[in-house]
Amino acid sequence: AKRKRLGCAAYDAKLDVEPEIDSRLALSAELRRAVENNEFVLYYQPRVNLANGHVREVEALVRWQHPDRACLLPDEFVPFAEQTGYIRDITHWVVGAAFAQTVRWRAQGLAIAVSINLSVRDLLSAGLPERFGELLQRHGASPDWFTLEITESAIIDDPERVLDTSAQLHKMGFSLSIDDFGTGYSSLALIKKLPVGELNIDRSFVTNMATSPDDMSIVRSVIDLAHNMGLRVVAEGVESAPVLELLGRMGCDAAQGYHICRPVPGGQLEEWLASREESDHQAGFAARRSE
Ligand code: C2E
Ligand code: MG
Ligand code: MG
Ligand code: MG
Repeated sequence: AKRKRLGCAAYDAKLDVEPEIDSRLALSAELRRAVENNEFVLYYQPRVNLANGHVREVEALVRWQHPDRACLLPDEFVPFAEQTGYIRDITHWVVGAAFAQTVRWRAQGLAIAVSINLSVRDLLSAGLPERFGELLQRHGASPDWFTLEITESAIIDDPERVLDTSAQLHKMGFSLSIDDFGTGYSSLALIKKLPVGELNIDRSFVTNMATSPDDMSIVRSVIDLAHNMGLRVVAEGVESAPVLELLGRMGCDAAQGYHICRPVPGGQLEEWLASREESDHQAGFAARRSE
C-alpha cells in the first residue's frame, strides 16, 4: 500500500521499511532503473565544532526516493548495491551531487566542508581517483572541501589496495577519515599507515555514554588515542544534551546527532544554519566558550 511520504529522516526507518521488496531480482531491476533515472537524493547532517559551537561541516547521506514507495535509507539498499556492483554508479552520483551542492554553497558564501561515505567496493574499484578527478573538474570543486569516509571493514578487506587508493586520493587533496571506529577489526598498525586525519567514533559507544560507564571509558580512550595519533575526533549519535556536554568536556573535536539536527535536504540545511546563526548563543555553547 502506498503511504504518504513523511520525508526521509532516519527516525522514519521502521515505518519506511517496505516488506514488498523481498525478491533480490526485483530489487536488482529496481536499482538499475534508479541509477538510470537518478532516483537518489542527498541529505545532509550538520556537525558541531565543540571548541566554538560553529557548524562548518556536514555529512552527505544518500536516500533512494523510489517513485512509488516510501523513501529508502542506505541500510536498505547500499549492502545490496555493493553485492551487485551498482554501488559504483551510486557513488558516482553521490560524489557528483555533493560536489555540485558544495559549489553552490560556496557561491552563496557558505564555506561548508562535506564528508562523503565510500564503500569497500569503491576503494577496490580501479580508476576511482581518476573518476573523482573528472568530477572535480566538471563541477569546479576543490578537493580540500571534502572528507572521504572509509569504514574499518573496507580496510581489512584488501589493505594493500585500500592503502594505495587512499594515498592517491590524499595526494589529490582530499581529506580522509575512518568511519564507525571501534566496530570493525582493523588494526591500529594499519590505521597508522593510512593518510587519515580524522576518526569517527561509532554511535553505539556514544548514544548512551552519559549513563554507561563502559561506553564513557571507551569514548574517552578513543578521543585520547586519536589525539595522541594527531587525529581529529568526531562523535556520532549524539541524542541528548548531557552527551553533547560530556563530549565537549572530554575534548572531542566535533559532534553529530539527532540532538543537534537530523539529516535534512540541502535547502533545509541552509534554513537550519540561518536560524542557528540567530540563536547561536542560546545553544549552550556560550558558557563553554567563555570558560
Ligand atoms: P554513517 O556514515 O555512520 O552515518 C551516520 C548514520 O547515523 C546515518 O544513518 C545518520 O542518519 C545516523 N544518525 C545520525 N545521528 C544519529 C543519532 O543521533 N542517532 C541515531 N540512532 N542515528 C543517527 P543513515 O543515513 O541511515 O546511513 C547509514 C549508513 O549508510 C551510514 O553510516 C553510511 O555507512 C552508509 N551511507 C550513507 N550514505 C552513503 C553513501 O552515499 N554511500 C555509501 N557507500 N554509504 C552511505
Ligand atoms: Mg559516515
Ligand atoms: Mg559514521
Ligand atoms: Mg556509523
